[in-house]
Amino acid sequence: MSRVALVTGGTRGIGAAISQILKSDGYRVAATYQGDDAAASRFRASHEIPVYRWNVADESECRQGVEQVEADLGPIDILINNAGITRDASLHKMSWEQWRAVLATNLDSMFTMTRAVIAGMRDRAFGRIVNISSINGQKGQVGQTNYSAAKAGVIGFTKALAQESAAKGITVNAVCPGYIDTDMVAAVPEAARQRIIAGIPVGRLGHADEVAEAVRYLVSDGAAFCTGSVLTLNGGQYIANG
Ligand code: NDP
Repeated sequence: MSRVALVTGGTRGIGAAISQILKSDGYRVAATYQGDDAAASRFRASHEIPVYRWNVADESECRQGVEQVEADLGPIDILINNAGITRDASLHKMSWEQWRAVLATNLDSMFTMTRAVIAGMRDRAFGRIVNISSINGQKGQVGQTNYSAAKAGVIGFTKALAQESAAKGITVNAVCPGYIDTDMVAAVPEAARQRIIAGIPVGRLGHADEVAEAVRYLVSDGAAFCTGSVLTLNGGQYIANG
């Protein structure tokens, strides 16, 4: 029986590319989303991947959602914590709501989603967890104290859980994309987008498929010795220390 992979935010952007590449590799894939029913329906129809709607920031919704996916597809072997949002503002103008929304969706979700699958992975002595962080969690970014803090937190979470889980056959890794041509970056004003591209040595935005290729490796059997790593994919925009 093929392994089951759950991709949060798996109906659009980077998550959709990850869902598709894992399906093409033979995994049984479930993709979650929060509210864009139209995009989710189009995705399900085009790719024949089941979709599930719940909020990754809500602990009980995550528990119930995981139970439903496991009832439909079987135990979850692979979790891709991908769902994320931005609510940009300089800190002196940032509202508590902007701070909380980004921390809840991007960082609380590491707990809510992973907590719902980790015991089963430990019992079965196999698991692959990939957490999508960001270049801006590595280097910080003006207007993104909330997002940079959350994404840096994802890296700490990854390193700690990797150590806890290594002896149980579970690997936990983080991927830090640079700027990728998804809806999230399309929302950036054109002039700012051109400034971003000018700062990328490769000379272009990244593609969601390029992030999906990295995830494909990290979830493979061949990546069993790779855990606690932070994989940087940013066209040379920021060379991290490790
Ligand atoms: P998109 O905005 O294109 O898609 C986001 C996906 O996450 C959608 O499926 C969305 O659902 C889902 N989602 C958002 N909030 C929630 C929530 N609370 N509960 C459940 N699902 C949710 O994002 P990207 O593909 O651009 O980004 C994916 C990940 O990659 C994020 O973690 C982002 O921070 C990270 N990243 C992106 C970069 C980029 O340049 N694009 C760069 C670095 C990191 P719905 O369709 O219902 O809204």
